[in-house]
Amino acid sequence: MAIRAEYIWVDGTVPTAQLRSKTKILPGPVKDLKQLPEWGFDGSSTNQAEGHASDCIIRPVFFCPDPIRGGDNILVITEVFGADGKPHSTNTRAALRAVAEKHAAQEPMFGMEQEYTLLAEDGRPLGFPEGGYPAAQGPYYCSVGAATAFGRDVVEAHMEACLQTGIKFAGINGEVMPGQWEYQIGVAGALEVGDHLHIARWLLARIGEDFGVSVSLDAKPMKGDWNGTGCHTNYSTKEMRAEGGIKAILAACEKFRPRAELHVKNYGYGIEERLTGKHETASYKDFSFGTGNRGASIRIPLAVEQQGKGYLEDRRPCANCDPYLVARLIIETTLG
Ligand code: ADP
Ligand code: MN
Ligand code: MN
Ligand code: MN
Repeated sequence: MAIRAEYIWVDGTVPTAQLRSKTKILPGPVKDLKQLPEWGFDGSSTNQAEGHASDCIIRPVFFCPDPIRGGDNILVITEVFGADGKPHSTNTRAALRAVAEKHAAQEPMFGMEQEYTLLAEDGRPLGFPEGGYPAAQGPYYCSVGAATAFGRDVVEAHMEACLQTGIKFAGINGEVMPGQWEYQIGVAGALEVGDHLHIARWLLARIGEDFGVSVSLDAKPMKGDWNGTGCHTNYSTKEMRAEGGIKAILAACEKFRPRAELHVKNYGYGIEERLTGKHETASYKDFSFGTGNRGASIRIPLAVEQQGKGYLEDRRPCANCDPYLVARLIIETTLG
């Protein structure tokens, strides 16, 4: 029986790329990536080509069950190529492929904490009353109860859908600002974490449609004394995970220092507004690392210090970051 394959790609919207997708009908169930044909789209409508030669190619690189449509239907992550067969300039996964391959022996692993804000139809975050503000931050993080947790039906539906896909979905929590939540993807390989994150992002946007709720990955959705929205990126190598790995973790932290500006520039639009030094961030102008310090650019979790091995947490990436670009920079900086 025919199945529906939802081909998903990253577009060329400036300043923040968006996910796009369209549906391809295939003759039957798909067991292998090789069964998925390449496809095309109109790049002039996605900021990826000029009008006169606008065909772009999408090549499947990952697929999983589609929990919305069910059955043998699937979701497909694709890479974008130009008519010349070369990776499109927006295809940051292609650049990561080469870097991940080069450093495969070090087995880089990632866990990304995707924060986001749910918006009502009028564009206000859930929990923000019309014409005013909710009570100040404090009670909302990891909260329960109708007075502090807003949008849990969406969050639960999203978690259920993600689990049905088999992606590496690690957990959820309510965040500091009303209407703000987080899910974690990982621990996963460099390409895998981005592929799985894109599936989860797409599903959240899609499920939001059914609830009349939209999803904002804006780095600072509410100006003023409200937390920004991040995508903390946890990272380890084989050496860091091995006995005495803390040495490699500290050495990696030092390698980040001279490249701090490069990382900040590539960690998502609006980062200057989010990394102010307040609201559990370090200023984007400084670089710091420390144990258990949520006011540092890079945090070494307390348990990691105690065990003398594990991983580090780069707290700087924004919610709207490109996970392939973040992973590539982290690998290049620490292993390059
Ligand atoms: P917190 O909110 O305290 O910063 P979370 O539990 O939200 O922490 O996220 C931590 C993430 O770290 C986990 O989801 C997991 O994916 C990731 N992680 C755990 N161990 C490793 C590791 N060895 N390498 C990379 N990431 C890891
Ligand atoms: Mn977290
Ligand atoms: Mn968080
Ligand atoms: Mn974190």
